[in-house]
Amino acid sequence: MDEQPINNNQGDNSLAQHLDSNFADLHPPLNQQQASQQASRCLFCYDAPCVIACPTAIDIPKFIRQIATDNQAGAARTILSENIMGGTCARACPTEILCEQKCVLVKGEDEPIDVSSLQRYAVDPVIIAEQDHPFKRAANTGKKIAIIGAGPAGLACAHALAVFGHDVQIFEAKAKPGGLNEYGLAAYKMVDDFAAKEVKFILGVGGISIEYNQVFGRDVFLDDLKEKFDAVFVGIGLDKANSLGITGENLNGVQDALQFIANLRQAKDKSTLNVGQQVIVIGGGNTAIDAAIQAKRLGAACVTLVYRRGSAQMGATAWEQDLAKTNGVVVRDWAKPLEIKGDSQVQSMSFEQTKLSNGKLLGTGKTFTLPADQVLIAIGQNLDNQILETMDMANGKITVGDDGQTNVSGVFAGGDCIASGEDLTVQAVQDGKIAAAGIHDYLGGANG
Ligand code: SF4
Repeated sequence: MDEQPINNNQGDNSLAQHLDSNFADLHPPLNQQQASQQASRCLFCYDAPCVIACPTAIDIPKFIRQIATDNQAGAARTILSENIMGGTCARACPTEILCEQKCVLVKGEDEPIDVSSLQRYAVDPVIIAEQDHPFKRAANTGKKIAIIGAGPAGLACAHALAVFGHDVQIFEAKAKPGGLNEYGLAAYKMVDDFAAKEVKFILGVGGISIEYNQVFGRDVFLDDLKEKFDAVFVGIGLDKANSLGITGENLNGVQDALQFIANLRQAKDKSTLNVGQQVIVIGGGNTAIDAAIQAKRLGAACVTLVYRRGSAQMGATAWEQDLAKTNGVVVRDWAKPLEIKGDSQVQSMSFEQTKLSNGKLLGTGKTFTLPADQVLIAIGQNLDNQILETMDMANGKITVGDDGQTNVSGVFAGGDCIASGEDLTVQAVQDGKIAAAGIHDYLGGANG
């Protein structure tokens, strides 16, 4: 699958306005009265289950109490001390399977506290309005740390290291920082260039510099970094898209779904983007859902999401699946891709229905074909093992200890390239935090 531009329309003002409204903020921010009302519902639980469900262990009852007592800046500090990307997580975290699912109010068959909206209410003034930066650096330690990748894990690690007083140099493969926050999340979750604003805020603490267009294994090499820096953090994500391995994958119109989303996120004018009329999305995770909804909102007549197992096995939450359906996406589960057909341009795609037999996924022999002029593939990414040949790996990902250190002394790792759990921004931030503490200890801790 080549990277394919989806840009071949002439820009059009009325279409641009229509598309702007299609990609407006999915959850508009709370005003002060709404935030106070929501905060007043919280029971401020002891040993709160919402905190245990948060991968970054934000003290949720504490920050909600701070909002309830009109201490918005204090609430922001409580959140950002644990999760420096609390702004993105307030927009993109699947809270319906994390803090909000565990809220005790649900047991009483009430609506959970809207933790994500309260979190956004607290942190947005600090990040968007650039109010006083809540963090100060410790005295400079003279130590230098290299970070590969300016995604959520790398930036969270960099920020914590900078606060410890270390200097950080980040090497980023792309032209902009933010990783999937900048390139991979749905546009209606990250309006008004929020990912860039958040990175600016993170860098505002000082002591962090970024070099762009530095590809690991091409421009940046682990052995060099180990020599020149006191420690290294690898946060390169998973950058190789998985392919289906079927006939027709190289036809025009077949595209990696993440590249489709990246093109959309980077387009200044969405009316210049072209989208198919009959779009098929393959996959069952959040990227598949984000791609399907955005194709529909760009104007596709029919978007069908096809997944080889059932809806219960999808990586996307039930809430995300419902969002897709309410946006007009047709979901067809229990079907596996057989072939993509066309001359040079994709014209249709055939599938075989599947079933489970003794826990194994089998084809039933029943097939069907869907017309298609665009196929978006969202079946995950993998890591280029060759550039990490000195590192221990498991299931295609880097293995790390409890402190985030790899088997190579002084080299730490985090984010999607390690096997830490969910491939979520919030988990990557936690990985970066853990590794920063590990690096600080490795360099001598408070005496470093
Ligand atoms: Fe508040 Fe719900 Fe958390 Fe209890 S579980 S502290 S009610 S958000």
